[in-house]
Parts: sequence; structure tokens; C-alpha cells
Amino acid sequence: MATLRVRPAGVLVSTRGHRVAHRRADRRLAARSDYSTNDRDVSVEKPPSDDGAKQTPVKKVVVIGGGLAGLGCLASLSGHKHINATLLESTRVLGGRVRSKAALGALAWDQGASYFTAKDPSTPFAEVLRKGRADGVVELWAGGDASPGARVGTMCTKEEAGGHVLDESSWEPFAASKELYVGVPSMAELPVFVAEKVANAVRPEASWLGDNAVPGTPEYLTNAFADRIQALRTQDTGTWPANVPHSGSDRNWGLMIRCREGGHMWYKPWESDVVVLATQAPAAAKLTAQILKSVGADGDGGNGYGIASKILAMASAADRIRGNHCWSLTVAFAEPLNLPYEGVMMKEPFDGGIAWFANNSSKPGRPEPGKGKGAQTAGWAYRWAEVGTSLTVGQGECWVVQASPEWSNERAEMSPDDAAKELCDAFLKLVGRSESEVKPVHVKAVIWKFAYPLNPAGDPSDDSKRYLFDPDLGLGACGDWTSGPRAGDAYDSGVALGRAVAEHLASELNQKETSEREGKAR
Ligand SMILES: Cc1cc2nc3c(=O)[nH]c(=O)nc-3n(C[C@H](O)[C@H](O)[C@H](O)COP(=O)(O)OP(=O)(O)OC[C@H]3O[C@@H](n4cnc5c(N)ncnc54)[C@H](O)[C@@H]3O)c2cc1C
Repeated sequence: MATLRVRPAGVLVSTRGHRVAHRRADRRLAARSDYSTNDRDVSVEKPPSDDGAKQTPVKKVVVIGGGLAGLGCLASLSGHKHINATLLESTRVLGGRVRSKAALGALAWDQGASYFTAKDPSTPFAEVLRKGRADGVVELWAGGDASPGARVGTMCTKEEAGGHVLDESSWEPFAASKELYVGVPSMAELPVFVAEKVANAVRPEASWLGDNAVPGTPEYLTNAFADRIQALRTQDTGTWPANVPHSGSDRNWGLMIRCREGGHMWYKPWESDVVVLATQAPAAAKLTAQILKSVGADGDGGNGYGIASKILAMASAADRIRGNHCWSLTVAFAEPLNLPYEGVMMKEPFDGGIAWFANNSSKPGRPEPGKGKGAQTAGWAYRWAEVGTSLTVGQGECWVVQASPEWSNERAEMSPDDAAKELCDAFLKLVGRSESEVKPVHVKAVIWKFAYPLNPAGDPSDDSKRYLFDPDLGLGACGDWTSGPRAGDAYDSGVALGRAVAEHLASELNQKETSEREGKAR
């Protein structure tokens, strides 16, 4: 008869969470009779199978970070029957620096990346943009066959009393061949599309993560922060006490995931053969430094693997990357600004303190100014402070203004309210409007720390140099910091790393099978 051994679903923080996790474990036991090797909470000693059917061995890959790099990696790991891939994203939503926000029912802004470009039609990212367009979640904003295309180009500033204004004589539109794509109805639509329609990933409840994983079908989870990573290969895991997470594991890595769900937070242990760091460079540096600590100062943990120098190489690569901050203003005006352009990239030097501004309302699929439903239908999301500012609130023209690196770096510690006020004043001055003409009804600013990498580690033009991967270690990294500073670079680097990981794991399994066959034959 089968015997069941149950251990808690994770290291629990709240007592209510503890009870919930136990109830869930009980439900799982009641509902299922077949327990795969993926069950981390339940182990079943089954009688030896007499059907002789051979189980395909499955490797586990965890992708940390749900920006475009992590999603690209997940997409290329999808469909491989020898891989169970899991993506963890620490925030509430997928997308990372491709982020959008809405307010008052009819105001919407793309707060991070403003548009997508593909370097060349043969890249994986170009393919995703085509698929997204066919599915209605991507549309052309400017260039190519956009009709009517937005007027987007570059301009210089000139100095005037009281600040810098646009020098309209310097206007140069982007070449018509430069296609600028946007997500519809927001930029944040593309990351979700990639997860669900390109990677064909499923999203389980946090406490069920991995329980019903099907090889070849990835899983993803938001509100899941990879808190700690430990190299298991350096430990004599067989000697660990039975109730310690990761005891008896033959995988390379042990992780602690901090999950949030339904108002609870708890820790869930996880194991993996390969870890992909698809985070920003500073987060990758922090995680690798912590892995290094876990293997001990001499780096071989006492059993001769000596992996510290390899981990150190990855940690130093991430640590060397420098990045600029970027303050991003989201502002809505009760009256249209009536400017003769929808997007302007300022030419350096950014004397007015602004690097880029765009009329978000001009993008396809956005709420039309003046035709919004207004604050009364905005539900709980609206803010009373804003409702009081204008009768037309919820129906304004939405603009995004991004400050220059110098302006942002100098004001990195400024309060968001002060930064929003300064940036809004600088923008109105730049475009020659005043608050008395065009009343701002929503003014907010956020700072993106490490907005762009200044010295990416790789080379976006060479597929094998878009990412870092140490197959021996089972540790890889991808993102804009290993390739180039655009969303498409990040995605393509993730795809290239995913392919390398899938290939490596397939050859590892083949080698194992060959040596087992040879062992039997001897
Ligand atoms: C203001 C701004 C404007 C931009 N404009 C454009 C543009 O117009 N066009 C363009 O092509 N590019 C633009 N970019 C650049 C582009 O957005 C980025 O290059 C790209 O999105 C980077 O993707 P990524 O996956 O490498 O990183 P990210 O998008 O930063 O994703 C990393 C993810 O990892 C998660 N994470 C970190 N640590 C952990 C952890 N421990 N556990 C779990 N998850 C974790 C983070 O929450 C994040 O979601 C812009 C960037 C900024 C900031």
C-alpha cells in the first residue's frame, strides 16, 4: 500500500497562511491519486511499476524576472518535453520596464517603454510584433503603413528668458521606414500576450506552483520574489535532516520564493537544474553575490566542485554594469495641447532637462480625449484629490515626459511630488504653454532606477553574445544589460539564452542515457 508523507507547503509567515496552506495540501491529497515527481509537498512511495514504461527525465529551469528578457527565455523553453520551466516575477504584473498605468477610467499612460522597434525583420522580437499585430494587441503608431502615422521626430532646444524652449526649425521627422509599434490598448498588453500566446504558459495559484506542471508547458507567477538562491551541488545533501527544504535533491539550485496571494505572504522552497537571471543588472549582482556566499569562501563547499570562480565571473559581469536613472512624468491636461507633433526625442545636450515626450492619447486604441467615461465610472481606482481638480477629469489628453539622464541622476532622491512639479513646469515651458491655458488634471512622476544600461556586457548583433551562460554551473543571465538598451534587445537575448539552455539540457540527458546504456551493456 502506498504511504503518504506530507510536509508544509512552505516556510509560513502568517498563521492564517499556514492554515490555508495545510487545507490546500489536504485538498490536493483528496483530489488526486497520481503523484508526479514534481510534487514538492507530497511524496508517495509507489509499488514498482510493472508496465515497464520508461519515464522521460525532465529538467527544471527557473527564470527569475518577468520583463521581456524573461518572457523571451520562457517562449524559447516552451514546447520542450524535457523541460519544466517556471517564471517568477516579483511585482504584481508582467512586463518589467514595459509598464502602463491608468487613472480615473479614461486616462492612460505608458510609463516605461513608449514604443517597440525591431532591428531586423528576422529577429524573434520582429516575429512577436507580427504575431501581436495579427492578434490585435500590437499596432503601428508611426512609420511604415501606419495611417495616419503619428508625427514623431527629433528637435533641439534654444534658450529663452526663464528656460529652454523647442527650436522648431530643428525638427526632423523619423524616417518613414522606422516603424514604431505600440501595445494595444497599452504597452503592457504585449508581455501578457507573450506569456499566454507565444510561450503558451499557464498561471497556477501560488501554492499550487509546480504541482500539476506538464513538461513543455511553462508556468508563470507574479508576486513571486526570488529571495534566496543556494547552490546545492556544494552540499552533501544526503546528510541533511529530512525536514529541511532541498534535502536529498539532485538538482543544482535551491531557492526560496516569497509569494504573495490573497493578502498573505509566505515562503516556498523550490529546486531547479538551471537558474536564469532575467532581472536588471543590480538585482542579478545581488542574487549572484548571495549565491557566492552560499558556497562558502573557498568556493568548493568541502566536496571539490570549486564552483566559486564561475559564480564570481557572473557576479562581476553584473556588478560592472552602470545605468542611468530616469524620472518619468505622467500628466493629463483638461484641454488638448494642440502641438504639431506626437512624439519628440530631444537632441543632446538635453538643456531643457527633458529627453523625450509623447502624446499617449495619440496612440492607437487609447481612450479618446473628451470621449472618456469620466471619473464617475472609474470605480475604486480613482483618487478623490484628482476628482476635485476639474470637471472634465477622466477625459484629458495624456502625455508622458521623460527627463534626461543628467536631470534624473541629479534628482534621484527628490520626492515624486517635487519632481512631478518641476518636470511639468519644464515641459510646459519647453512646448510654450502655460497652466492657465491648459490645466493639468493629473500630474505624477516615478523614478526608474537603472532605466538604461550604459555599458551592456554583450553584443546584440551576435546571437551567442547576447547572454551569459555557464552550462557547467547551470546559471545564465539575459536582459538589456547583456545585449542592448531596447525592449527588443532584451527579448532577443532571452530567446537566445532559452535556446542555449534547452540545447544544453537535451545533450546532458542524452549523455546520461548513453552512459547508462553502456553501463548496462558491460
Ligand atoms: C522610462 C523608460 C523608457 C524606455 N523606453 C523604451 C522605448 O521606447 N523603446 C524600447 O525599446 N525600450 C525602451 N526602454 C528600455 C526597455 O524598457 C528595457 O530595455 C527592457 O524592457 C528591459 O527588459 P528586461 O527584461 O531586460 O528587464 P526588466 O523589464 O527590468 O525586467 C526585469 C524584471 O525582473 C523582476 N525582478 C527583479 N528581481 C527579481 C527577483 N528577485 N525575483 C523575481 N523578479 C525579479 C523585476 O520586477 C522586473 O519585472 C525604456 C526604459 C525605461 C526605463
